Amino acid sequence: MADLTLDRVSKFFDDDGSRVVAVDEASVNIDDGEFLVLVGPSGCGKSTTLRMIAGLETVSEGEIRLGDDRMDNRPPRDRDIAMVFQSYALYPHMTVRGNMRFGLEESTDMADETIDDVVEETAEMLGIADLLGRKPGELSGGQQQRVALGRAIVRDPEVFLMDEPLSNLDAKLRSQMRTELQRLQEELGVTTVYVTHDQTEAMTMGDRIAILNDGELQQVATPLEAYHRPANRFVAGFIGEPSMNFFEMDVRGDTLVNDTFSYRLSAETQEAVAESDRVTLGVRPEDVELVSDADGDHTYQTAVDVVEPMGNENAVYLEFGADHTTFVATVGGMRRVEGGQSVAARIPEDAIHLFDAQSG
Ligand code: ADP
Repeated sequence: MADLTLDRVSKFFDDDGSRVVAVDEASVNIDDGEFLVLVGPSGCGKSTTLRMIAGLETVSEGEIRLGDDRMDNRPPRDRDIAMVFQSYALYPHMTVRGNMRFGLEESTDMADETIDDVVEETAEMLGIADLLGRKPGELSGGQQQRVALGRAIVRDPEVFLMDEPLSNLDAKLRSQMRTELQRLQEELGVTTVYVTHDQTEAMTMGDRIAILNDGELQQVATPLEAYHRPANRFVAGFIGEPSMNFFEMDVRGDTLVNDTFSYRLSAETQEAVAESDRVTLGVRPEDVELVSDADGDHTYQTAVDVVEPMGNENAVYLEFGADHTTFVATVGGMRRVEGGQSVAARIPEDAIHLFDAQSG
């Protein structure tokens, strides 16, 4: 039972004499039993962070603690952590049983029969009990992934670290394994840090998500908080599909203006921008409403450019103004909208997000 703390953790690499800051003073406290997803674009420092927790990289500055105990100065094997890799990293010459036993034989002095029991119980839990005699080469990708998970689970660690563990699976299996992994994690109650570049995966799996960009933690929040109250423009653009629409606007009293359109703010909202000359106005595609005419407040005459089907919804790309500013609205799939059509689009004030124009 332990929480995991990263306390102003930084990692510097030396790249031909110049310093690369891979992780910049990252601080987060992961509760005992919590599922934290570390998410961000490629190269933002996710793997490096995970590898520092695992002890595969040294920490340049800061501390990592498990409960009250400092762990960043301990060798990997003394950290009570099990890691699951994207590549599965199974031993090809060993059977499934051998692969799962291996971690335990190394890390405990359990009797052989007890190890057998633990391996069999775990294999049962993962639905791979009938595969114990096979070698990794005789398994599908999904089955190999379960073995890799099994090997981590049998060790009964304080912390699971998972580095894009589902990215080699096809889409259907991936979504099935997401649910299963979540269920397992909850059942086992083991503190978990899960790395992915996929915001959908982060949004559906994490108790909380930690969004990283350029080595810096942008926000640590529940998926809903990050979606509804993004800390900055980066988070706003990263979370949500299709991405949030952004418009760069000048602030003129109670109105935001640019070359294409103006947007009048209520007194309450205006307070939030009173100190700024320029802001970024953001609105999520799902919050843009297609309405019958352009007479109402915050409503604009637009032309449909392209309609892109997305399952039971459509992404409707709209353009307006002399400079053909484009933005996207998602609407129910039953609604008939076609390219070239003229439609009125409303951007409701209770759905807008305002960001510092300088912040990104
Ligand atoms: P992510 O997992 O988010 O894709 P990484 O943690 O792998 O990102 O990398 C973060 C940054 O650190 C990148 O700019 C990467 O090039 C750099 N980096 C990672 N490992 C090394 C290394 N061993 N030497 C130099 N730079 C590295």
